[in-house]
Amino acid sequence: MSFKAPRGTVDQLPGEVEKWQYVEDNIRAVCRAFNYGEVRTPIFEHTELFRRGVGETTDIVEKEMYSFRDRGDRDITLRPEGTAGAVRAFVEHKYDKQPLPTKWYYMGPMFRYERPQAGRMRQFHQFGIELLGTKEPAADAEVIALALEVGRALGLTQLRTEINSVGCHVCRPVYREELIAYYTKHKDALCPDCLARLHRNPLRLLDCKKERCRAISKDAPSILDYLCDSCEPHFAAVQAQLKAMDIPFVVNDRMVRGLDYYTETAFEIVGEGLGAQASTIFAGGRYNNLVREIGGDDLPGVGFAVGLERLLLAMEKEGVQIPSAVGIDCYVVAIGKATDDKASALVQTLRQNGFRTERDYMARKMKGQMKAANRLNARTVAILGEDELARGTVQVKQLASGGQEEVPVDNLVHYLQQCLEQEEQ
Ligand code: ATP
Ligand code: MG
Repeated sequence: MSFKAPRGTVDQLPGEVEKWQYVEDNIRAVCRAFNYGEVRTPIFEHTELFRRGVGETTDIVEKEMYSFRDRGDRDITLRPEGTAGAVRAFVEHKYDKQPLPTKWYYMGPMFRYERPQAGRMRQFHQFGIELLGTKEPAADAEVIALALEVGRALGLTQLRTEINSVGCHVCRPVYREELIAYYTKHKDALCPDCLARLHRNPLRLLDCKKERCRAISKDAPSILDYLCDSCEPHFAAVQAQLKAMDIPFVVNDRMVRGLDYYTETAFEIVGEGLGAQASTIFAGGRYNNLVREIGGDDLPGVGFAVGLERLLLAMEKEGVQIPSAVGIDCYVVAIGKATDDKASALVQTLRQNGFRTERDYMARKMKGQMKAANRLNARTVAILGEDELARGTVQVKQLASGGQEEVPVDNLVHYLQQCLEQEEQ
């Protein structure tokens, strides 16, 4: 019998994994500049956390979670997103009682039972941030600015930022009723999903991708006409902040996020070149009720999450060149059985001095070992034959220039250092 990785998962192999590391390194550098600290929460949580935190009427909770009972009969779910866990940790460790705001980022695998396709996996990877404890419009703007900075650092130029306000507990109920009334008039034309959600979560109807529903949504009332005396100026102030930072954006009053916890600002950053099924790269917004909902103080938050698969797809589409991992520093070529121990000792010394070093483990002849060195893109080879062994030396060859010199073993580290420095100039 042969095994395959489960549907919707991939192996990240050497050669490919360097791209991931490049993305992750850039993300960490941006988080550092914006002063966000990393939080690592468990991969699984109590199912109830997501029911509460993400919301009963969302796609995630309704049909995408990997849930199971563990051997102690606990109801457990592999995390489908990062915010619920981060906010749970924030409350559990009493960050809500400490000086605010709290600025956290997370990065790692998430799990959703979806139909796999490009940019849509069952185990996928998200980077996200949470800025907790402030209602200031500058916070909303900072979160959007950080997302765009990640895009910029990764060389993406075809990004479109869409923002909206989804209101609060004061204005949303009024708008909700208006929406229900509007869609009820068009009930017969709605898709079964929308019909089922009409009373439970009417805002989601604006988001339906089906042609007929979209046509109906065109003339639906706009939330922006219903924003209350607190949401309306907040949304205006967020826009003023973005303009002050020279961040281009468009207001899209049909954009509502799929997660129930959002209040006020919602935003998406879309890759212009990506297919319609997976074009949203970054998605986020403000969630002013979530901390309280999860048992903490009544504190606001704002954040986003981005799929790393989609970031990489967007980079590929835009032809971003990822600096390739250069070759190894030195390949130790050992000729003859008698040199074997000394070769291992040399390799050990070079590695301990920070040189990326390799040797032969397949009992290859000289020619085979030189071939292997070339395949690994070695910058130098150190050749150890029985004569050199007797003299306490090695022949060092620089593969780029072809230059070769006999070097005392004791001086090898110093000599290699000079070779590599010269090459870099
Ligand atoms: P979509 O409408 O594409 O299903 P969503 O509303 O479910 O997205 P969020 O839960 O807001 O997405 O997640 C934020 C980001 O995480 C998405 O914009 C996307 O980049 C990424 N993402 C979400 N689900 C997946 C998945 N199954 N595979 C890969 N990336 C994903
Ligand atoms: Mg989804």
